[in-house]
Amino acid sequence: MKYNIEKIKQISQMLAEVVEEAIQAEGQEEVWIGDVEMVMREGLRVIGQHALQNFLEAADGEAEAELECECSGKLKYQRRRQATIWSVFGKVVYRRAYYAGCRCGNGVALVDQRYGIEPGKVTSGLAHLLALSGIFKAFEDGRQWLKEFLLFEVSENTVRAEAQTMGRLQQQADEQLVKETQNEASLQGREQRQIPAPDLLYASIDAAKVRIEPRNPQEKEVENRETYRDLKAGCWYEGEIVPPRQRSTRQQEKAQREGTVIRARNKRYFCDIAKADEFGKLLWATGCALGADRARQLVFICDGALWIWNLITHYFPKAIQIVDWYHAVDRLKRIAEEAFSNPSERQAWLKDVTEDLWQGRVELVIDACRGLLKQSSLAKQSLGYYGDNLERMRYAQFRAAGFLIGSGVIESGCKQIVSQRLKLPGAQWELDGAILIAKARAAWLSGNWQNLVSARSALPLAA
Ligand SMILES: [Zn+2]
Repeated sequence: MKYNIEKIKQISQMLAEVVEEAIQAEGQEEVWIGDVEMVMREGLRVIGQHALQNFLEAADGEAEAELECECSGKLKYQRRRQATIWSVFGKVVYRRAYYAGCRCGNGVALVDQRYGIEPGKVTSGLAHLLALSGIFKAFEDGRQWLKEFLLFEVSENTVRAEAQTMGRLQQQADEQLVKETQNEASLQGREQRQIPAPDLLYASIDAAKVRIEPRNPQEKEVENRETYRDLKAGCWYEGEIVPPRQRSTRQQEKAQREGTVIRARNKRYFCDIAKADEFGKLLWATGCALGADRARQLVFICDGALWIWNLITHYFPKAIQIVDWYHAVDRLKRIAEEAFSNPSERQAWLKDVTEDLWQGRVELVIDACRGLLKQSSLAKQSLGYYGDNLERMRYAQFRAAGFLIGSGVIESGCKQIVSQRLKLPGAQWELDGAILIAKARAAWLSGNWQNLVSARSALPLAA
């Protein structure tokens, strides 16, 4: 949209004069800049309300006597009828031509249709802000917080509804993608569009617990039906070498140890609370959208849960599988804690075995654990862990190939999607609500929010 800068300058000049007059009329000796700001914000809000009202009434134009109805009957002009919407400026009341009287009982206002307005509801501009608040803050906190920004009140339910709408749009996009990639013909169509095959693509998958409460509070009194469900999340990403000048202190230490530091970029998250096979379809669909099935090198770095490796082997059998380095080494630390009471012995064992793991000599790590079976039950349990993951722990080989070996991306992704919102104090989630907010957050973290905002403003009226 083009704005007439001169006109806006004139309006702001006029507004400044009005404010000055108003303040002088108050006869105050001292005026605080904060007061002036507040008066101007209120003034701008009123201007916005009027401008939006005028815009909609002007856009409505001349009324027709008759319109063709969707049912192919006739709609007759009734009168200019009043409607209300909630915009970023607050409540806007406008009048527009209203048509009704068809045998199907339909009623139509053309200007509402044209701009995707639902009378009584919020505009897409306001919906965007409410939804943003709803994915970051508890709904009630968001309501209070928004009031300071918007200068008018919205209800907690409206904040919740708009945040959920964004999640539902992401859910629909996910479902559409899954549908397309379950279908051979549309997969081929995609190849004809020539999505370039990535050179090196990474992915990580993990899960985090979310507390789901019963929908009906009375059910809770009968029996405690609160349950924990796994929110499964994945991330597709690329790696890039951090230039020496941009390295943090921690990264500088890492560079000294490891020679180079790689960071993740272009992170695209997906998530759901669903069974592993359903989640697998989403993994496949989001991967295909990025050409993962045709990537020259595809690398999965995960913490080692069996369902995750099974999905990867099923959908991407050629992918390189790596157990997250930090999980693998952390287990050695815990074994050492359990097995040695003498700190210097503990340190000596840990140093040697960590070096073996770093060099990908997993057989030696297993031997070292076998030597501690009497002192540590975790050592005993870990024989299977290291034994089953031999090929996924060839860290020297992976490092030589220039691969990332840590799954920090998805660890922090789970924190951001789940802990920072779904686990806020006082948060109570029904299953659907938790899924929608998680999906909306994943979209935000993936830089996909603007697509949801566009989809929201194009929502059909009769939805
Ligand atoms: Zn009709």
